[in-house]
Amino acid sequence: MSHERLNLDADFLFRAFAELGVIGRNPSGRGYQRLAWSQAERDAHQWFRERAQGLGFEAWTDPAGNSFADFSGGASPDEPALAIGSHLDSVPFGGAFDGGLGVVAALVAAKAIRDQGATLRRPLRLAAFTDEEGARFGTGLLGSKALAGALDMDLVRQAADQNNILLKDAMARYGFDLEALPSTHKLLPRFFGYLELHIEQGPRLEQRGIATAAVSVITGIRHLRLEFFGQANHAGTTPKPERRNALRAAAEAIAAFSRWVDNTDNLVANPGHITVHPNATNVVPGEAQLDWDIRSPDPALLDQAVNRLTSIANEVAQPFQVTVRHHGYHDVPACAMSEPWMRLIEEAAGDLHLSTTRLVSWAGHDASVLGRVIPAAMIFVPSRAGVSHAPEESSSDSAMLDGTRLLAQTAFHILTEEGAGL
Ligand SMILES: [Zn+2]
Repeated sequence: MSHERLNLDADFLFRAFAELGVIGRNPSGRGYQRLAWSQAERDAHQWFRERAQGLGFEAWTDPAGNSFADFSGGASPDEPALAIGSHLDSVPFGGAFDGGLGVVAALVAAKAIRDQGATLRRPLRLAAFTDEEGARFGTGLLGSKALAGALDMDLVRQAADQNNILLKDAMARYGFDLEALPSTHKLLPRFFGYLELHIEQGPRLEQRGIATAAVSVITGIRHLRLEFFGQANHAGTTPKPERRNALRAAAEAIAAFSRWVDNTDNLVANPGHITVHPNATNVVPGEAQLDWDIRSPDPALLDQAVNRLTSIANEVAQPFQVTVRHHGYHDVPACAMSEPWMRLIEEAAGDLHLSTTRLVSWAGHDASVLGRVIPAAMIFVPSRAGVSHAPEESSSDSAMLDGTRLLAQTAFHILTEEGAGL
């Protein structure tokens, strides 16, 4: 592989990161509110396209609202391009680094590759995906799913935010047609592969004192809703044996399934949301709705966990004369990253004298959708104290530089070598 080192413009990295950092910031200064299809998210996309144009790249937007910018570098513009980038939306009160670092790093890496002056074998494409987080409409990975042809249009058509604004209307406000989302998939042949730098969002790299990681596999994620049906009744007068308390059944299900999860490796599960009806202190709850987030990089284990949860729920609900229904409403399969590109990341880390390891990503990413249809790989850098999806989210200046260097070096290799490492 090419061992020539690229010259990185560190000033540009920190300047651009600071510029992006004023867009969608909460007035209190506590984190970001850059939700999908909000003015702030669209402003961030515009900033990205203008910045890319400033570098001489050709910026464009697809029907899903993803922003791209192309640099042919002497390659035929008809050749499929290597995309590098991340997303620009945040969760409510999110941090500056989740997604933002990957997009800024892509700009900086592209500038370094342009300035190096080599003739590329395939074009470079900077990418900023929309609605990665799904925090507003529950439609996470929307932009990458549209590109990969993996959208569930029935879900997308119904998607609405907390204020009952339909995704369809939020998109229309910015001139996008929800029904045109599937046409994004026609662009996929123009993509050679996808490489993303992201913060780890966990404590492993920092605790082990390792500078970078190649992601080995992105976890599979299931969201499962359990509905418990008992009988609402008077909290005082109903005899104990006759109480059909749906909330107690849900609580037993949380306790029993969590014990199984605690004793199971390679799997996590979170009972994160509960709705109780009628939710009154002096009424025996007649209904409860409990939503689980279950994750594992092992598809068979994930299936096993879902089966285990539903059977445990049925079992523990019986003594309360409560019945249980369940349905899954979000299912992202685990996705292994490209093994040859993991090795390229490791070789490039060696050239740059950066320590590196391989990590499972327990967070979802656009690469888990794109990695099913084109080669994809991800680089992680340490998160301070492992905090993410919070205003305190942060990575050191040296982590930002290390990650950007590694992104640039790996991308340069894929762009200039005949087989692109594959
Ligand atoms: Zn992210």
